[in-house]
Amino acid sequence: MARIELSDLAHSYLPRPGGEADYALKTIDLAWEDGGAYALLGASGCGKSTLLNIISGLVHPTRGRILFDGRDVTSAPTTERNIAQVFQFPVVYDTMTVRENLAFPLKNRGRDPAYIAQRVQTIARMIGMENQLGRKARGLTADEKQKISLGRGMVRKEVNAILFDEPLTVIDPHMKWELRTQLKQLHREFGHTMIYVTHDQTEALTFADKVVVMHDGRVVQLGTPDELFERPGHTFVGYFIGSPGMNLLDAEITGDTAIVAGHAVPLGDRYATRAGRTQIGIRPEFVSFTDEDDGLPVTVQRIEDVGRHRIVRADLRGFAVNAVLPERMPLPADADRVVFAPEQIGVFVDDWRVEPASTGAA
Ligand code: ADP
Ligand code: MG
Repeated sequence: MARIELSDLAHSYLPRPGGEADYALKTIDLAWEDGGAYALLGASGCGKSTLLNIISGLVHPTRGRILFDGRDVTSAPTTERNIAQVFQFPVVYDTMTVRENLAFPLKNRGRDPAYIAQRVQTIARMIGMENQLGRKARGLTADEKQKISLGRGMVRKEVNAILFDEPLTVIDPHMKWELRTQLKQLHREFGHTMIYVTHDQTEALTFADKVVVMHDGRVVQLGTPDELFERPGHTFVGYFIGSPGMNLLDAEITGDTAIVAGHAVPLGDRYATRAGRTQIGIRPEFVSFTDEDDGLPVTVQRIEDVGRHRIVRADLRGFAVNAVLPERMPLPADADRVVFAPEQIGVFVDDWRVEPASTGAA
C-alpha cells in the first residue's frame, strides 16, 4: 500500500497543447493518504478517468510527477505500479470460467494453488457468485461480468491501491447497494488505498471518508462529506452536492451585509470588499419563511414532496431560491418572505469561497 502524490500534474490529449482550454487536466497537486477511502466526484467529462489512468500508468501525463511513498513512478509501467483497476464496463476473459477469471491476477503473480483457491472462494462470496464458479464467462450477463471485474480488482491483497472507475454503472440498483457495502467492508478489513470514481453524490458520500471533487479539469475541493456540505470551497461543490444544491445569489458586500436584488442580507461575519463576481451561498436547509418585514420577498413557484420533507422552489427577483421545509412544518399561508441563517451563509468571489475579514461579529 502506498501514499500517492500528484505533483504539478497536467494533461492534454493534444500533441502540442496551447492554452488552458487544451488541457483535460489543468494543474493538480494532491496527495491520497495511504489507506484512505476516497471518492472522486464530478460531472461527466471533468477529467476523472484521465486522472485515474495517470495514477495507474495507462496514460502518461503531459506535465508533472506521480510519487508512490515518495518514489517517482511517472515513467514506471503499469505492472510495476502494482495497482488494481476496475473499469466502467466489464473486462473478462470470455473463454475462462468465473473461477479462472478471479484467479487470474494471483496466478499471474505465481501464488500457490491452495492460497488461490481460498482467496477465490472469499471473493466469489463477496460478489455473490459462489454458485457460478464453474461457468464460462461467455454466457454471463453484463451485470455478472462486471461483478467478476470487481472481484478481480479486489482479489490481490498486496496492491498499492485499488481504483474503481464508475464500476457500478451496469449493475442493477439493488446489487449496487450491496456491492458498495462490500467495498466498504473490504476497505475496513484490508485498509487498501481506494479511489472510487463516480458522478453520483450519494454513491460518493456513502462510500468515502474523503471526497475529492473535480470540476472542469481541476480539483476544487478535498474534504469529508460534512465539510463539503457545510463549507463548500467552490460554488460547484455548493450546487453539485446537496439536493437541491446550494442557493447562489449575486451580491454586493459591505462589511457584514450583503445586498441581494436591492435587499440587505445580514451575514454572520465581516468581509473585505473584493474585485470579481461576488455571490452568497446558502443551503436550502437554512432558508426559512418569515412573517417579519425584513425578510426577502419571494414568489413560491412549486412545492415538491420528497418523502421526509418538502422542497419549496421560489423566485427572488429572478434568482431561484429553494427552501427545505422540515417534516410536518406547514408552509405559512402568505409564504412570501424568507430569511437566511446568517452563520450558514458563505461568500464566494469568482466561484471560490472567501474567508471573513475578521472572525466573530463586530
Ligand atoms: P470523466 O471520466 O470525468 O468523464 P475524462 O477523463 O474521460 O472525464 O475526459 C476528460 C476530457 O478529456 C473530456 O473532455 C474528454 O472528451 C477528453 N478525453 C478523454 N479521453 C480522451 C482521449 N483518449 N483522447 C482525446 N480526448 C479525450
Ligand atoms: Mg470517466
